[in-house]
Amino acid sequence: MDSCIICGGRQSYFYELFFSPELPTPHGGPLTVSTEDGADGGAGVGSVAASALSGGADAAAVAAAAAAGGIGSAKMDMPPTVINRADASVTVLNPLRNRVLLRRLERKTLVLDLDETLVHSTLRPAGEPDLELRVHIDSFPCVFYVFKRPHVDAFLRQVAAWYDVVVFTASLHQYANPVLDALDPDSELIAQRYFRESCTLLPTGFAKDVSITRSDGDLAKAVLVDNSPSAFMINRHNAIPIETWQSNVNDEALLDLLPFLNILRFVDDVRSILSLRVAR
Ligand SMILES: [Mg+2]
Repeated sequence: MDSCIICGGRQSYFYELFFSPELPTPHGGPLTVSTEDGADGGAGVGSVAASALSGGADAAAVAAAAAAGGIGSAKMDMPPTVINRADASVTVLNPLRNRVLLRRLERKTLVLDLDETLVHSTLRPAGEPDLELRVHIDSFPCVFYVFKRPHVDAFLRQVAAWYDVVVFTASLHQYANPVLDALDPDSELIAQRYFRESCTLLPTGFAKDVSITRSDGDLAKAVLVDNSPSAFMINRHNAIPIETWQSNVNDEALLDLLPFLNILRFVDDVRSILSLRVAR
């Protein structure tokens, strides 16, 4: 049996996951993906994979096809996840088969940045914040006006069902802890919290070593979503960049990530996919 070009595992495993013939695409027909140079601006597989990191369900499927086929074209019939953007609900196709497949895989860790990824906070009053936070930083009283990124509550609920969710922020715990309490009031979504003292200060800024978020330190099973490029400097092959968010009420970046994060649950080593972006 040939090995899977994505995960190094059995090829039937990959095909069963991504190329099920009986399931429709969102377009109502088979999705044809061209990965020839020129089709994506000449950058080939790397840029196709990069588009998946910010492009949503179709782009995630494209990335999988690109990685599987390398060059040429591929036909795919299965987006594993469908997002209803009207109410931010998520449908995972064929959940029974997914459960069988996941039984063979260890649960992965999703490491999320906080500021400009999940929320935006400002010291100046603006609009109607989701949270008005009064804390002391170095004994100085501060008021933070905290705004939630659109769809953050639905996003956290969904990814907590798929991953062990960790928040890793370069912010101080005096500020970040109350914000996380507001995002996860019942302490059932976020398993661990890491703050500035856990970051590594590099000339480029704060970097995050995601291996510390797992007891086994296994980087094959850890994904970091962050808006700051400096955060990725230690584990670049575990990175999913997300657009910086401050105020766009129509932002859907968190929803766009869900299909891709669903796919990543099924690979043996997340770096086999995420490193495609670095190789551009
Ligand atoms: Mg940030």
